[in-house]
Amino acid sequence: MMQVVPHASEVTTISDEARRAGRVVVLVPTMGALHKGHLALMHEARRHGNFVVVSLFVNPKQFNDPNDFQKYTRDLPGDLKKCETAGVDVVFAPSEEEIYPPGVTLPAVPVPAVGKVLEGVSRPGHFEGVVAVVSRLFRIVRPDASIFGMKDYQQLRVIEEMVKEQRMNIAIIRHPTIRERDGLAMSSRNARLTPEGRQKALFISMSLDAARYLFQRGEKDPATIEKKIAEALTREKLQIDYVAVVDAVTLQKIPRLDRPAVIAIAAFVDKVRLIDNCLLDKTE
Ligand code: AMP
Repeated sequence: MMQVVPHASEVTTISDEARRAGRVVVLVPTMGALHKGHLALMHEARRHGNFVVVSLFVNPKQFNDPNDFQKYTRDLPGDLKKCETAGVDVVFAPSEEEIYPPGVTLPAVPVPAVGKVLEGVSRPGHFEGVVAVVSRLFRIVRPDASIFGMKDYQQLRVIEEMVKEQRMNIAIIRHPTIRERDGLAMSSRNARLTPEGRQKALFISMSLDAARYLFQRGEKDPATIEKKIAEALTREKLQIDYVAVVDAVTLQKIPRLDRPAVIAIAAFVDKVRLIDNCLLDKTE
């Protein structure tokens, strides 16, 4: 039977007991509004352990735009059904007070350097919020491992570095991006697109595919790839926030594609901010 737990202290006890009983605890942090991308993470969690905890918490601290926070889809009953079907052991669905207890000063965890560019610039305070909530969830659940999607590649890098810097003994597992049949990266925000916006949004993944093809054909200049993508998105009337080809490890600009890199895109469609990325690696 899946347990649904609203209290942090109770989750800590349940998770500790599971670990003492020899189980490997794997945490999948989410903000709910679950889709097939999240479910894939849960199935992956089962492969890496035998006690799966999913957290459902729309973290106000990581929204730099209050309107985005307000409009974020919330569907607890639907999410619980999906978790149950996915064979999750515990759903941690806390209130804001459980995560950020009033009057309690939680240990300050700095944002690693990889969080200072791209989303870190476009969404001031975003990674401070991500680091605050994930470090808190890690302290509450004390998982052996935790799974993050490559859809939010920079977030994944931030968490990987945070775990290293803070010497948290937690394995961070990467999961590839799950896409709709036509290539659009699955996102809780896609539900806010109009039918026309949905068609426009497709140009994000299409331009990434075209860029990957250029790279495979020998293109080594990051600026050329950035320019081609920006042209395609502008032609289709998407409002670009950034298009950046950066080092896949440091997320810093590189002069030439002579090491693993990532193309990161953030663009607005119908005022909905969408992100997507793809790795450029010889081995891909
Ligand atoms: P969110 O609920 O948006 O905070 O996402 C929770 C986790 O699911 C994060 O690790 C995301 O990277 C991951 N995720 C979201 N969408 C996808 C997707 N389309 N494919 C793979 N992972 C995803």
